[in-house]
Amino acid sequence: MKKLSAILLVIMISAASCATNREKESGKENMPSLEPPKALNDEWSKWLVGDWQGTAKSDFGEHKDWAKGDCRLNIKFGLNGQFLVRQGQSQVTSLSDEYIKQLKGQHLSDSDIEKMCNSTFKSVEIYTIDPKTGEVIAYLFDSLRCIAKGTGKREGNKEIMNWVWSVQGQGASVRVTEKVDNDKFITTEKYKMPDGGIMEDKAEMTRSKKGKSDSDSGMDLHNPEQLVSYLEKEGRNWMVTQRDAYWAKGRPLESDIRSVIGPFFQNDTLDSVRICEVSQIENPPFYKELERQGIPMPMDFRNMAGITFNDTVLINPSKIDAKRHTSLIFHECVHVAQFRFLTPDGFAREYVKGWANNEFDYYKIPLEIQAYQLQRRFDSNSQSTFSVEAEVAQKWK
Ligand SMILES: [Zn+2]
Repeated sequence: MKKLSAILLVIMISAASCATNREKESGKENMPSLEPPKALNDEWSKWLVGDWQGTAKSDFGEHKDWAKGDCRLNIKFGLNGQFLVRQGQSQVTSLSDEYIKQLKGQHLSDSDIEKMCNSTFKSVEIYTIDPKTGEVIAYLFDSLRCIAKGTGKREGNKEIMNWVWSVQGQGASVRVTEKVDNDKFITTEKYKMPDGGIMEDKAEMTRSKKGKSDSDSGMDLHNPEQLVSYLEKEGRNWMVTQRDAYWAKGRPLESDIRSVIGPFFQNDTLDSVRICEVSQIENPPFYKELERQGIPMPMDFRNMAGITFNDTVLINPSKIDAKRHTSLIFHECVHVAQFRFLTPDGFAREYVKGWANNEFDYYKIPLEIQAYQLQRRFDSNSQSTFSVEAEVAQKWK
């Protein structure tokens, strides 16, 4: 309950701030809207998502290459796809002799200079597009405690951002990012210091193959079609591995339950069933990829009382009232019958499609609607029997 009120409070506060903006615009009161703009879907942002690595160098006025470094970037969608989040990390690989001489002139010891060379510089940049103006807006925070606000635009294969620096940062800069090809970009940033000094950084980044994790789908899961085909494939694999992991640990249906639900099913359906009690139903491993791309969790399996992988039913007894146990087993056995009729591939396809075509609402998935309907018929009168297999065949023929 506590958690829920905190969430509601956050929603209310954000709704209140939205409302304030609206009132200013229209001059009259409107109900606050909780509807977000469509998630970012522009080609530039989608192209940038991934891991990048490269080298950078910096010139300061006449001093060429005073610092060189290696950089890494991880770019992903965040906050339900409303922002593009770039996390950068770079390491100085060399400082010019001239600069080292200057540092020594500032009475820095060799070990201080060594430390400076080995330091890691980190930054976070958060981008979005103003839905009203189409302008690119960004904020930057870095490990030198600089903050910068950027505004800019994209033209063809270039993005031009104007940054204004504050806190430990000073002055202004213009950064031009040029897309060379799908796996390469070059960034040039010119800084104008308040004292008139000019610094110029240049970085060349390539998409890092190594940085791609095994779970990286290489797909843009913000695209609904790609999301559905990804979930269908991964969902099917997950069902198969879960079934194989739990089948041997399961036991056949208990005879008292079987005597109650038996008249509704064919014997071979119930003979095949294995029941396995677990302390929690785990979320599938491919959720990590969804998280990486900033996509909210489709459904939280950890709260579920039961789940069926082909002929193997997992039950979490802590999530179900003991009185409802037989009813839950009935529901899961309907899924076993659906699996048998549709095959595991067919079940995965229908399940994911049914879910994606119905506003990603679990209760509107046709396979679930049928399981709940038949379960209710069983609950209302366990004497009035019908054939689950016949109902399944009728619906999915
Ligand atoms: Zn179900």
